[in-house]
Amino acid sequence: MEAIDNMAAQIAKDYQNKVPVFVGVLNGAFMFVSDFLKAYPHPCEVSFVRLSSYQGLTSTGIVESLLDIPEDVEGKSVIILEDVIDTGRTLKQLVHLFSNTNVEEFKIASLFYKSDGYNGEYSIDYVGMEIPNRFIVGYGLDYNELGRNLKEVYQLNDSNMINLVLFGKPGAGKGTQAGFLKEKYNLKHISTGDVFRYNMKNGTELGKLAKSYIDRGDLVPDEVTINMLKAEVEKNPDAAGFIFDGFPRTAAQAEALDNFLESKNMKVDATIALEADENILVNRLLERGKESGRSDDQDETKIRNRFDEYNEKTAPLRSYYENQEKFHIVNGIGEVTEITERLAKVIDSLG
Ligand code: AMP
Repeated sequence: MEAIDNMAAQIAKDYQNKVPVFVGVLNGAFMFVSDFLKAYPHPCEVSFVRLSSYQGLTSTGIVESLLDIPEDVEGKSVIILEDVIDTGRTLKQLVHLFSNTNVEEFKIASLFYKSDGYNGEYSIDYVGMEIPNRFIVGYGLDYNELGRNLKEVYQLNDSNMINLVLFGKPGAGKGTQAGFLKEKYNLKHISTGDVFRYNMKNGTELGKLAKSYIDRGDLVPDEVTINMLKAEVEKNPDAAGFIFDGFPRTAAQAEALDNFLESKNMKVDATIALEADENILVNRLLERGKESGRSDDQDETKIRNRFDEYNEKTAPLRSYYENQEKFHIVNGIGEVTEITERLAKVIDSLG
């Protein structure tokens, strides 16, 4: 491929008196690395890293590597070989991974580059080809792990899927509104709270694990919640879209959701926060608690604790989604039908 020959020639020119270490990013870059190295004329070392978007999530939301950075990179010039750079999340992980090494130089080379989707956090030193912000498959790149063996690169058809996140403090009406929106837009509604309660009722391992947190009004740990959410999405491969109700609630969950959806050629289209005053919500929840029997709805201290969890851990997601231009606010006070109309207005305005 001409783009690879050009990249190899350019890097060869810049590194003619050095022996760079090329570090391929698995799995996607394996074909690119192979062809690149065949086109690279000077001495060089070769190694690989592998990042996991889905496993070993740390509290910071930074994902761990499955295959560690190569030994003996100290004092050397490292050039990362990536197959594609789109949002920049993987790149951030790579920079983080190498930040504790004493490499002499750290450069990034990517065969494909989606400038429209890139957050621009780090400069990219060598680019093979700029491409539109579309999902591509083949030549090492996968769609749900398939298609890596295709010799050429293909663009997947865009789907008309809509994926929405509903934010709002407990009692803001997320569940009620999701019930209407899922009918109107033919979406699958996933309420993490409902899934936990279903598991608690049926005495599953997950239910037992979540119970103590839910009873106190604390959040269930990220890893448990994230795995559960993924399993719920996986159960609905034919869904025309999802309403995520009560997820994400932490920064780590938001990042995990983006990574997970991206791996399935999906994305969050919009997040909508239903706003309502806490004192109104306390009364709503206490009323609801009388009928539903939910213990976390019957005690004002637990309710206030859930608000605190929201304010501390979930409210900061506003800026996360504002940065992606996906955050909308809807007034959650009024008639139920009126609020549905406000939400529909936002959804219908999505491009
Ligand atoms: P909800 O029905 O959405 O009010 O959720 C009830 C409870 O389930 C919450 O107070 C949490 O203990 C737990 N829960 C629901 N969703 C999540 C989440 N995304 N992360 C952590 N805990 C959650």
